[in-house]
Amino acid sequence: MHHVATAPGGQPASPRLLQELAETLQRLRLGGPFYLLLWLLAGAASGLWERARWPFLLIALVFVGLNVLRFRVRGLPDSAPEDAVRRRLDWIWTLLLINSAVWGVAVAWLLLTTPSESARTVAAISSYAFATAFAHNFPMRLRAAFAALCLLYLSTLGALIANGSRFELIAVSCLYLLYISLALRRSHGEYRQRLDLEDELRRQRDLFEQQSRRDGLTGLANRRRFSAALGDWCARARDDGNALILLLLDLDHFKAINDRHGHAAGDACLCIFSASLQAAFPDTGRELVARLGGEEFGVLVRGGLDETVRRADMFRAAFAAQPLALPDRELHCSVSIGAAAFDPRRDGNGDALYHAADTALYRAKSAGRNTVAVAAPG
Ligand code: GH3
Ligand code: MG
Ligand code: MG
Repeated sequence: MHHVATAPGGQPASPRLLQELAETLQRLRLGGPFYLLLWLLAGAASGLWERARWPFLLIALVFVGLNVLRFRVRGLPDSAPEDAVRRRLDWIWTLLLINSAVWGVAVAWLLLTTPSESARTVAAISSYAFATAFAHNFPMRLRAAFAALCLLYLSTLGALIANGSRFELIAVSCLYLLYISLALRRSHGEYRQRLDLEDELRRQRDLFEQQSRRDGLTGLANRRRFSAALGDWCARARDDGNALILLLLDLDHFKAINDRHGHAAGDACLCIFSASLQAAFPDTGRELVARLGGEEFGVLVRGGLDETVRRADMFRAAFAAQPLALPDRELHCSVSIGAAAFDPRRDGNGDALYHAADTALYRAKSAGRNTVAVAAPG
């Protein structure tokens, strides 16, 4: 399980939303220059440069300005709050809609004022091409994309009708509008499906990662996680000089419990023991409780030796005093504990600390079990 610190200004954005932003942004940058280019081409072909130079240049300038704005939109870091990501997406869509509206108005003006059939064809085909590209590249927001598509397309169609274009051309244009509307709907569905799939993959990966760090029976950290933490926490203790204690715990005569009551009862004892050990060392920021294998457990504690040994002994006494309540019987069980304090002169990478605690545990067993033994300072 990843713990993401809550970003200032609200909930952190989901990976899905961040992905939507990254993809929308990438496509935003790709599209812009084509509007300028095709406007210049259509304008030159239709003679607007001679007939209406200033409005023509003004529109070209608006496309230049929109292009600059498109390239100035920045992405956001993975830790960005959801609100900020949504606002950024809203701004991108505002730019896209303005861009589509400007193209729609400009092309309608061109179509209504240009007698040349070939220039009008260039302009109309450009509109259809933009609408097609839009349907394929911006399927993230269905309604906004549909609005942009209409802005690009309907004015072109309207102008064709208004200046009496051939019936066949208008009919084909209407059919094509229907086609790209359906294509947009399909690419929106496919886009959502892909994001769902990637969500599922992320979920599986997190689950797998969590499972690879947890013990299946008790839910405690497993040996792999413990070994990594032992190395890390030792390095930290060496750097900051704070005390670090390792407890190793081994249930007493556990084989006899298995032999007498069966493996299932043994497993139930391990679960009860794990839960009470976790409850005795609950501070997950400063304490780590792990099952190292079989009926052996480890606890890492950032804290003083005397205090930790006192808590360990209280836990030991309480565990021995309270019978374990299984569904069909009560069992008595006890635990032996070895404790050792991190010593920067001795414990290079955690192995020596582990060895010291293990030796202390061995002494606790030799001393008759159900006791805590503390390693001599290194
Ligand atoms: P000691 O007091 O010396 O530790 O005696 P012990 O019987 O606990 O020691 P030993 O290491 O010889 O035996 C450990 C036993 O733990 C062996 C096995 O039957 C049992 N055991 C190991 N893993 C599991 C498990 O996952 N479930 C169950 N039910 N028993 C387990
Ligand atoms: Mg053992
Ligand atoms: Mg044992």
